[in-house]
Amino acid sequence: MSIEIDRVNKRFGDFVAVDNISLSLNNGDLTALLGPSGSGKTTLLRIIAGLEQPDSGRIRFHGQDTTDLHVSDRGVGFVFQHYALFKHMSVFENVAYGLTVKPRSQRPSKAEIRKKVMHLLEMVQLDWTAERLPSQLSGGQRQRIALARALAVEPKVLLLDEPFGALDAKVRAELRRWLRRLHDEIHVTSVFVTHDQEEALEVSDRVIVMNHGRVEQDGSPEDVYDTPANPFVYQFLGNVNLFHARVRDGVAQIGQFRIPAPEYAGQGESPAIAYVRPHDIEVLGAANDESLHTRIDLVSVVGPTVRLELQADDSSQTVHVEMSRGRFRELGLVQGGDAWIRPMNSRVFLEDGALGAH
Ligand code: ATP
Repeated sequence: MSIEIDRVNKRFGDFVAVDNISLSLNNGDLTALLGPSGSGKTTLLRIIAGLEQPDSGRIRFHGQDTTDLHVSDRGVGFVFQHYALFKHMSVFENVAYGLTVKPRSQRPSKAEIRKKVMHLLEMVQLDWTAERLPSQLSGGQRQRIALARALAVEPKVLLLDEPFGALDAKVRAELRRWLRRLHDEIHVTSVFVTHDQEEALEVSDRVIVMNHGRVEQDGSPEDVYDTPANPFVYQFLGNVNLFHARVRDGVAQIGQFRIPAPEYAGQGESPAIAYVRPHDIEVLGAANDESLHTRIDLVSVVGPTVRLELQADDSSQTVHVEMSRGRFRELGLVQGGDAWIRPMNSRVFLEDGALGAH
């Protein structure tokens, strides 16, 4: 089921929550709506669901205009952050609910329902809770049951709003991978709201980065991470170092470093900002002509990765660097010691107001 969002607008009083958004979401894709709080993700999701009416614009499911269709006629399944389960029903009955209320002609047999519900409960690793009441489960467990319940009726479109927001980091990471695998099996067109960039990059086929009710970038997880369209996307997706630079005719000069910036071929000299990811800075154990001397202020080991905070000689700027633990050991680096660095890869944006900025 493809979803077309056609020039959709939504205001709350004077506040523009969704600002003329047009998107085509592909059949079978898992698409993430990613953005900071208040960027309009949830409002857009609710408009797709039919829980909110747009002020203008249309929504189409597989070419059919659903803008005026009631939520219950759209064939959507939801998992919302605060989506309550039926309190008086057992977990089993909650998951089975959508199947048991189907018209008799479409309703599976009791045995089939049992098999399906137990299979879903096994997938969310909660089959042992089948006879419990929701009040006997943790918040995170309830969300997993909500997901199983949404999937039980095989919706044409699955809409998820921060479904794992309440879970601790480890369970959250497991469920992400589980959701990805599950999606690979069932291929239901899914839209997933999150403000967590790691979650969006890991889970989805496509990431829509939103800010102030608008789409900042629309692309694969690799696209948005490797080739951010603008400084907002760059900073929102992961850690980054910002360096003052000057651009001239296809070259960016950051201090003594010269880095190719072919997108600015023919550009007259302009102030710019170079964005460099922490893992795109090479650390050398000794000086060479092309390196900058720094002092190692802080070393933190996070699993297989080492994060360094470095202080450059000639500025008060802290430079963040990430490297493998193996490389860190090889170089024999120590807190308080010396390190020489060289940016390997950067993205340069002209400063606001610079001539020919884009
Ligand atoms: P969050 O992650 O915080 O939910 P979001 O990107 O999902 O953020 P929305 O929930 O879509 O953002 O909200 C966008 C803006 O619209 C917010 O500033 C919110 O206060 C406002 N808003 C949302 N729903 C309503 C409403 N029913 N009435 C008034 N304002 C609303």
